[in-house]
Amino acid sequence: MALTGLDIYKRLPKENCKECGLPTCLAFAMKVASGQAGLDQCPRLTEEARGELDEASAPPQRLVKIGPQSKSISIGQETVLFRHDERFHHPTGIALKLSDSADPAALAAACERFKKLTFHRVGEDIFPDMVALANESGSGDTFAAAAKTIHDQLGVPMVLMSDSIEALAAAGEPLAQDRPVLYPTGTCSADELAALGQKVPTPLCVGGTLDEVAEKVEALGQKGLKDVLISPGSVEAAETLAFLTQTRRASLNKKFRPLGCPVLVQAENDDEVIAAMDACSYVCKYAGVLVTNVWSEPLLVPILTTRQNIYTDPQKPVQVEPRLYEIGEVDTQSPLLVTTNFSLSYYSVESEVEASRIGCRILAVDTEGTSVLTAWAADKFNPETIATALKKSGVEETLQHKRMVIPGHVAVLAAQLNEETGWQVLVGPKEASGIGPYLKNDYKAA
Ligand code: SF4
Repeated sequence: MALTGLDIYKRLPKENCKECGLPTCLAFAMKVASGQAGLDQCPRLTEEARGELDEASAPPQRLVKIGPQSKSISIGQETVLFRHDERFHHPTGIALKLSDSADPAALAAACERFKKLTFHRVGEDIFPDMVALANESGSGDTFAAAAKTIHDQLGVPMVLMSDSIEALAAAGEPLAQDRPVLYPTGTCSADELAALGQKVPTPLCVGGTLDEVAEKVEALGQKGLKDVLISPGSVEAAETLAFLTQTRRASLNKKFRPLGCPVLVQAENDDEVIAAMDACSYVCKYAGVLVTNVWSEPLLVPILTTRQNIYTDPQKPVQVEPRLYEIGEVDTQSPLLVTTNFSLSYYSVESEVEASRIGCRILAVDTEGTSVLTAWAADKFNPETIATALKKSGVEETLQHKRMVIPGHVAVLAAQLNEETGWQVLVGPKEASGIGPYLKNDYKAA
């Protein structure tokens, strides 16, 4: 039976040192009891207490670390089925697939291409974080050489996929300190898997049906091999989604530990559009690692965007620092645009200003990260808050004009804002997409 927070608390050091990231041992105990923290987070726990607590307090889903220290990712240890119940914690690792049958020059070119796949969206860089290498050449030596090339060129977390246990051991052993996932894609027994795990100490991926993976995960656990992912293998989208959903329910709702492992899935299709659509569904529905053959930028961006959105905290609006921003080359006559500090609002305005090539200042008013209309309705974006932000920003000293542009949706604020600040208040377009034409035509004429 699961331990309560108090059961766990009794065995903690009770030093309230905060090294676990929580203010007290009691708070830490409560988090462990609810599956939101692991015992590893308390560096002062004695081995004896750890042994007593380990099994009973283990989170329903394991946390698995993959990749070299500098670029490692952690997957698993999720606590809810539905994002709105709390949040999803460990973003899906997105692995782009390569084949060892590519010649060395093509492999090197793919690595160079991989390095350039970084995109900027709402203030963050988003990029694929892993490479999956498939042993399609049929040669263990070629597989090992290709794995080393990718490892040396990119140094990112890897998934090594082969139906040969020997090839996996040969490719994985030299890289073991950087924790690649070894994924035997063919049929193999629990004993063969265990032998591989004992020879190469790095995470393993166990494939098969629910019954098969549960049996093998249990057998591996009995041999002390706990860094395990599970996978339905290369199957249809419906089957993959069923596997993802059933394992998540079994681990979180039923506390069925053999299925409490992060799930590796494959979104691969000759038609990259279908692969990308499958990939987005899997990211939404619990994939721990996604292996995909989608390399084209227009299709990769939606997958990365889906992950970026799904793994934000739904209770906290994504926001930028409320302050004055200078975009492009600005001088004392540059326009001043006013918006809220909701990320999407701010970055929509910023990107349209950049595209217009007209240097502007943007005043992001603190609305606790809410959008223009939401903030206006909640009385957080009003003449007083805008006037306060204007004063605090010091923009008055840098401009030789006193004109500001407010979003068209809040045109109703213009007269009162003018009274409050003494500034001329211009009403801009309702949508950010209208900012470029507005600056080029209407603003100049105003
Ligand atoms: Fe208590 Fe351990 Fe957290 Fe320190 S690190 S506050 S001892 S639980």
